[in-house]
Amino acid sequence: MSLTMKFITYNAKNFRQIEYLKKLPEQVKHEIEIVSKVLPFKTNNYVVDYLIDWENYETDPVFILNFPNRKMLHEKQYLEVENAWQKGLSEQEFQNVVNKIRLQLNPHPANQLTNVPRLDNQPLPGVQHKYRDIVLFFPSQGQTCHAHCTFCFRWPQFVKDLDLQFSMREIDMLTEYIKRNEHVHEILFTGGDPMVMSPLTIAKYIDQIFEADIPHLDTIRFGSKSLTYWPFTFMPDHSDEADDMLKLFRRIVDKGYHLSFMAHFNHPVEMENSAVQEAIYNIRQTGAEVRTQAPVLKNINDDPQIWREMWTKQVNLGMVPYYMFIERETGPYAYFEKPIAEVYDIYRNTIKYTGSLAKTVTAPVMSASMGKVHVMGVIENPLDHQKYFMMQYVRHRNVEETYKPFLAHYDEKATWFDQLVRADADMILSLEKE
Ligand code: SF4
Repeated sequence: MSLTMKFITYNAKNFRQIEYLKKLPEQVKHEIEIVSKVLPFKTNNYVVDYLIDWENYETDPVFILNFPNRKMLHEKQYLEVENAWQKGLSEQEFQNVVNKIRLQLNPHPANQLTNVPRLDNQPLPGVQHKYRDIVLFFPSQGQTCHAHCTFCFRWPQFVKDLDLQFSMREIDMLTEYIKRNEHVHEILFTGGDPMVMSPLTIAKYIDQIFEADIPHLDTIRFGSKSLTYWPFTFMPDHSDEADDMLKLFRRIVDKGYHLSFMAHFNHPVEMENSAVQEAIYNIRQTGAEVRTQAPVLKNINDDPQIWREMWTKQVNLGMVPYYMFIERETGPYAYFEKPIAEVYDIYRNTIKYTGSLAKTVTAPVMSASMGKVHVMGVIENPLDHQKYFMMQYVRHRNVEETYKPFLAHYDEKATWFDQLVRADADMILSLEKE
């Protein structure tokens, strides 16, 4: 790798300049172009040059993670966009077709828009407050990523023409909100990816938090996929800003905050090279902890062997496995989704063979409208051989509803929480009948 890495972005407009792509069939490029009219597409020179095995691009996990393909839309939707594009409609007419299809892809799973809190009757549009003790902050300059994941549930934030972006220029309204809500003790910087911002910009937010000096705020978290997509952010030998970023992390820790870097890894291949390993080491040297999370994705990581390798690597690199998610029902989820029952099997067949330090993970979990639903297991009634999912909310809008186990009828095809039927009520009825 060259000493200072220059960040080069590839997107729907310039992706044909990627040298490796030039050798691929024209049909592949055409399909990327059509699908990227609907879904956001962005990658960069590090991903392209160091993470993708171009000899096997069709099954390469990072290629699938970054490059849209035809199967990510329903065939009818794909043909509709392709026809509209080839017909040479006016820009507005074409955009209408695209927007119609985007709205068919459930752009707001789990009612994210209802989580926006109010301060003195004014909505705080760059903030989400769903769980009692934590607020999510979407800094306006952090609403993009170094590359876009094809499965991302926040995809509407990355496409223009839909008025779906969260943003808030000022953090002072947020700190005032936290001051007035003393049960809030964590702030999660999210996006996009807050690590696309310069250390100077992030420092402005952090200094305002320090200045607000809120006694009940003790934890600062950054949700980020920069370790995969641009590890140079944390490598002073390769980036002019990395030293400032690491110093900022150290400053947060020295000020007495618990700093947690929430890293997203979807496949062990993302942790293989020395750049990412050095970046992880440098972050940990600041006193920050690194926790990891990712969904199970068909076509990318739906195999216990992959998860075993991933969690083992993470633990060996000093990270803490945190959440394994079930893919959300938004965007191209038909391409990525797995039935809940199969995800649970993947989890069980992973965790039983991993070492103790990887057993910190909570899994599998669905981020549903009311909260994070943990699938704890599958049980069978020995009397009638009926099967059930045993579940609990590990997070809920109403904290009193957390950690109460409940049952849902087992359904081997169900892929999301709202397709399940709770079983508790009818079991109580049948017991009463006896
Ligand atoms: S890095 Fe995170 S927010 Fe950005 S596209 Fe990927 S999953 Fe979405």
